[in-house]
Amino acid sequence: MEKPDITVYKFGGASLKNAEALRNAVEILKNCAHSPLILVVSAIGKTTNALEKIHEARFNGDVKEAIARMAELENIHMNIVNELFQEKTHQIYSDLQASFAGLRNAIEMSPEPRFDESYDRIVGYGEEVASIIVAAYLKDSGLFVELADARKLIITDDNFRDAYVNWDLSKERILSFCNRVFEENPKTIVLTQGFISGTEDGRPTTLGREGSDFTASVFAFCTDAVEMHIWKDVQGILNADPKIMPEAEFLAHLSYRETVELAYYGASVIHPKTIKPLENKRIPLYVRSFLNPEQPGTCINQDMSDDREKASYIFKFNQILISVLPKDFSFINEKNLSDIFTVLSRNNIRVRMMQNSAVSFSFCCDNDVVKMPMLIKDLQMRFNVRYNENVELITIRHYSNAELKDVVRSRKILMEQKSRSTHQIIVKS
Ligand code: ASP
Ligand code: MG
Repeated sequence: MEKPDITVYKFGGASLKNAEALRNAVEILKNCAHSPLILVVSAIGKTTNALEKIHEARFNGDVKEAIARMAELENIHMNIVNELFQEKTHQIYSDLQASFAGLRNAIEMSPEPRFDESYDRIVGYGEEVASIIVAAYLKDSGLFVELADARKLIITDDNFRDAYVNWDLSKERILSFCNRVFEENPKTIVLTQGFISGTEDGRPTTLGREGSDFTASVFAFCTDAVEMHIWKDVQGILNADPKIMPEAEFLAHLSYRETVELAYYGASVIHPKTIKPLENKRIPLYVRSFLNPEQPGTCINQDMSDDREKASYIFKFNQILISVLPKDFSFINEKNLSDIFTVLSRNNIRVRMMQNSAVSFSFCCDNDVVKMPMLIKDLQMRFNVRYNENVELITIRHYSNAELKDVVRSRKILMEQKSRSTHQIIVKS
């Protein structure tokens, strides 16, 4: 049999935030000419944040608080379901209850000793519940749907909260599931959860916050999809966050390379891990608005010709600028640098900008309340450490088209760096 041209869609939390949004999603699916289709959904609205709070309460031993928060979350989901399914004897009511009973059970059980493992056990419920609701609603709307449990299809190691995909195993499982479904009926939508995955021995893992984009690209890669579409509440990719720069402009076309650069410097457009699998198979990605589905959105592919057209701005707030000086006033040399990077790597620090002089090495990273004190203590074993909190990192791609004074305003520049295409500036917030 000839291989079907599979398309992968991803609907994020905002596109499923209430009953109206779900109705809109169904309209998009009914009008879409893409089949066979794999549909990845993430948790509804702000559910993942709520689940993080639930997990935190539980991990700190406050079961009562965790259960109270869970009841609130269940209510939010119940209200949506009540609006979508008039028939009170509908199967969705017992399915939803069963899923929340599973969550309650996970909360009441004593937590895994490791924070990250227990996090994955609890926080993944948002995606489970969303997929159950969406599946039921799509079926009621006359679409053919088969629900796939991503925890059994995307197989990872046990690096909880940022699990690493076992590509061979995942491909085998994904293909065997999708091939079976599409051979029976190519019009069926394979519906699955973003963000969540599982180890080979069945323990739940997750792929990192906002990881549903990556889930979609894992499915696209493994099935050799012809296109992938991410549906969002914005027109597509803009050259800045419009909440910070209201004059931000729409980018119609970008290369994989440029998109990775933007994501790397911290633009929250798409999850940084998303692009590589797509690039490797040359699968075009469309970032589109579910509010204007007739618009094509931003197209991302290998063509680099438009990348330099406009400057892009990435603002990272709540950064810390740290300077490290060898205690004996010796030079910063390769040996020192290697020691510093060993400490950075041991503390899981993502460096966003770095620079060195003769006797000091400076770098900028997120001012994480948990990680920073530990990192600074660790560095202080060997080095003198100075730091500047409350700084902002501004990255400008293709800065020759940019007006620097508009973004820096009259603030003091603490550190600055330029390459041919990227200008990075650290300013006092
Ligand atoms: N629901 C998860 C999160 O909010 C995954 C995602 O949205 O991509 O992080
Ligand atoms: Mg999300």
